[in-house]
Amino acid sequence: MSDKLILVLNCGSSSLKGAVLDSASGEVLLSCLAEKLNLSDAFITFKINGEKEQVSLAAQPNHTGAVGALLAELQKHGLDSRIGAVGHRVVSGGEAYSESVLIDEQVLAAVEKCIPLAPLHNPANLLGIRAAQDIFKGLPNVAVFDTAFHQTMPAHAYTYAIPRRFYRDFSLRRYGFHGTSYRFVADEAARFLGKDKNSLRMVIAHLGNGASVAAIKNGESQDTSMGLTPLEGLVMGTRSGDLDPSVFSFLADNTGLGIQEITDLLNKQSGLLGISELSNDCRTIEEEAAKGHEGALLALEIFAYRLAKYVASMAVAAGGLDALVFTGGIGENSALVRAKVVGYCEFLGLKLNEEKNLAARFGNAGVITEDTGGAVAVVIPTNEELMIAQDTARLSGL
Ligand code: AMP
Repeated sequence: MSDKLILVLNCGSSSLKGAVLDSASGEVLLSCLAEKLNLSDAFITFKINGEKEQVSLAAQPNHTGAVGALLAELQKHGLDSRIGAVGHRVVSGGEAYSESVLIDEQVLAAVEKCIPLAPLHNPANLLGIRAAQDIFKGLPNVAVFDTAFHQTMPAHAYTYAIPRRFYRDFSLRRYGFHGTSYRFVADEAARFLGKDKNSLRMVIAHLGNGASVAAIKNGESQDTSMGLTPLEGLVMGTRSGDLDPSVFSFLADNTGLGIQEITDLLNKQSGLLGISELSNDCRTIEEEAAKGHEGALLALEIFAYRLAKYVASMAVAAGGLDALVFTGGIGENSALVRAKVVGYCEFLGLKLNEEKNLAARFGNAGVITEDTGGAVAVVIPTNEELMIAQDTARLSGL
């Protein structure tokens, strides 16, 4: 094993998140976040050795400028020569990729071809890849796709019940997201429970600001709640999740909003934020619910109830349930949400242990149910960056 470090990049349309990791130990040596890209007051914040430092990107306020500033920061700390490869989070690999891949011109073309499937994300991912190729000259680049892990879903799980020509002509189908997190958490859960992952029927709930669930059997994704886009499925921070598709025409007819405005409304103003009329942040909602705020109480109940219904349906996809796994900011920290969900799922054989539920927070893994000999619920912190770094090291031969 080499002592080279991996740079992991996660690019959004106006942001860039980066981390430098030792892929063997998981140690993060530096992390950064560039914000307001493409605006004149863009800046990047570095975190290294427990210190924070902010640098203006006014001279070149775009993804290339951010990657350039990152190289300068690495040089300042003598880390630049230790970087062996760059791993990129890429949102959609469509049907082309079921695994991570070393990037060449053909891969770049395929990522470009998937832009209609992820119109906001894939262009930003491509900018990040091109910037890394320009600035970290000669280093291998690896693409790790959010969709890849779900490519094992059977056709009956990924096909929408609309005329099939739209699948044939436009690749319109369910793809799912959060795949890198599911892959990491599925492995970790099996290890934590001391079981062979191929013998575990798992339902994993990745609950962050974006949230989804997935059914895993034989270590493979069988189904997941997000679809063509991340809007399908659970109630999320600002996304509605599932609703009657006729809500679109109802809103258009009755409010005069256009398609893009309704899409924005359902993606950015709905979910916990829309119901509570307070915040998309689960912590704030919990604080206000504790004071009796009606909207916050309803938002939490809908979030948990809809999630529990999905857990039960994902148990169908997994062929049963051995482990319900919670991860993501809410899954790893909100004892309240977990208690509600496990409560709804008692009929699946889960019985909450309150003490264990409170102990498994703030980065601590743990089983949170009584030992009944049947299914367990367990909290496993996710680490997508480490998964990307490990894939990158392996595919780069480091
Ligand atoms: P993520 O997108 O994975 O970073 O998760 C963000 C979500 O996790 C936000 O809704 C946060 O409010 C939520 N979260 C983080 N810490 C806590 C906590 N201690 N209790 C409840 N929710 C939390």
